Amino acid sequence: MKRILNYIGGELVPPLGGAYLPNLEPATGAPYSEVPDSDSSDVERGVAAAQEAYPVWSRTPASERSRLLLRVAELIEDNAEDLARAESVDTGKPIRLARSLDIPRAASNFRFFATAILHFASESHATDHRAINYTLRRPRGIAGLISPWNLPLYLLSWKIAPALATGNTAVAKPSEITPMTAYRLSELCREAGLPPGVLNIVHGTGPKAGAALTGHPRVGTLSFTGGTKTGAEIASVCAPAFKKVALELGGKNPNIIFADALLDEVVPVSIRSSFDNQGQICLSGSRIFVERTIQEKFLERFVERAKTLVVGDPLEEATEQGALVSRAQFDKVMSYLQVARQEGGRILCGGDAASVGGRCSGGLFIRPTVITGLPVNSRVNQEEIFGPVVTVIPFDTEDEAVSGANATPYGLSASVWTQNLSRAHRLAERIQAGTVWINCWMLRDLRVPFGGVKSSGIGKEGGLEALRFFTEPRNVCIQFPVDPGGGTAS
Ligand code: NDP
Repeated sequence: MKRILNYIGGELVPPLGGAYLPNLEPATGAPYSEVPDSDSSDVERGVAAAQEAYPVWSRTPASERSRLLLRVAELIEDNAEDLARAESVDTGKPIRLARSLDIPRAASNFRFFATAILHFASESHATDHRAINYTLRRPRGIAGLISPWNLPLYLLSWKIAPALATGNTAVAKPSEITPMTAYRLSELCREAGLPPGVLNIVHGTGPKAGAALTGHPRVGTLSFTGGTKTGAEIASVCAPAFKKVALELGGKNPNIIFADALLDEVVPVSIRSSFDNQGQICLSGSRIFVERTIQEKFLERFVERAKTLVVGDPLEEATEQGALVSRAQFDKVMSYLQVARQEGGRILCGGDAASVGGRCSGGLFIRPTVITGLPVNSRVNQEEIFGPVVTVIPFDTEDEAVSGANATPYGLSASVWTQNLSRAHRLAERIQAGTVWINCWMLRDLRVPFGGVKSSGIGKEGGLEALRFFTEPRNVCIQFPVDPGGGTAS
């Protein structure tokens, strides 16, 4: 069985303790590879390698760092089909999605930050006629990068690329549930000629390898994407050590549809925002608010389409819905379907596991599920389910839509569908979310700030925000020479 290796100091190495965990294919339920069960000694090695590489890498010209990262992007593109297949097998997502979203975006992440660093400038402030202040931005040292299982290469590269572009070295820990494309990336980084120790990837579980990385005294910068509970744990470790932390956490995002919206556009995009990646996207619109006058019309079309989504082998071209990522995630989603019934929800479609025959008969599939009849404060409408499950909630007024949208602890993203521009602006201002999409969903421009508010996280990634996050601003103040007459020289 294929063994994944850690990437430390430019080498692919086994974990020091020699322990491995089985890596399962969610579509079959069977193990197909093994992932290192690394511990603090492996993290220590990774940090030591990152530290050794730091003095040279942090002084390497931006043009050279850019060249190497562009080479990684090219290699991802050259290997796109292999990577898409690997991502699909590892996560259970349809290969179509891995091909169209995950892998192209991983290449774009490298390309974007490789070129952004060439244009990154800092500020200067003239203080009357007395002095000039300028901001020196320097890399912060060793960055710890921890990513989740839902968009494995996409989210890992979103952290690696800006960390390295700005001259930091890094130790990354991908989710142990979906390690394969991170492993493939380490092979590609070797092929690209990335100097040893600039990027290190240590595989293993959160409580063991992840916690060792978070708590490591020489890792002063921590970028984490994952669940809100884990984020709180990480924050509590980092705060007393005064580490710089960005936390991209969970969401319970509203998708708000007004009566004047164009249903021909709303329905297909809402199907995607509800069920793409089996609903396991932090930005999924899991609570659909529909103006009451069009609720019936919307539901008729939306449910009809949800019922026809092809649930099947992720490796088949026709498949639209693959498997849930793990037994734990499958059980969690199934338990929420039970909660929905207990809370009095009406299940219009789905609501149960799907059986896919053949090689996938042991797989973890759940049919796309649409639920109505649950109040905004029900558990199903408050807690992140992270599966192919959405609720539909009617509203009568704009105020009601806004208060419903804001009525969870989360604040990651929102979609608003309306032809009324003034209303769109009003909602964009009133909804508590890091991103508000008007008449669209997941339309991403890598230059914009990205991140959540409230329990969806702190700190922003994306574009200049990421370059700022991974650098430390230092103010340098230069006083103008004083002229003999007592003033400053002009
Ligand atoms: P988790 O929080 O369980 O895990 C995320 C990562 O953290 C994994 O690599 C995990 O390791 C690691 N980890 C777990 N415990 C610790 C710890 N104590 N110290 C350090 N690292 C730890 O999230 P999931 O993997 O379950 O991902 C799903 C969640 O991610 C959802 O809530 C989703 O909303 C959120 N998410 C947020 C995004 C955003 O941009 N805001 C984007 C995508 C997802 P391992 O799993 O290997 O044990």
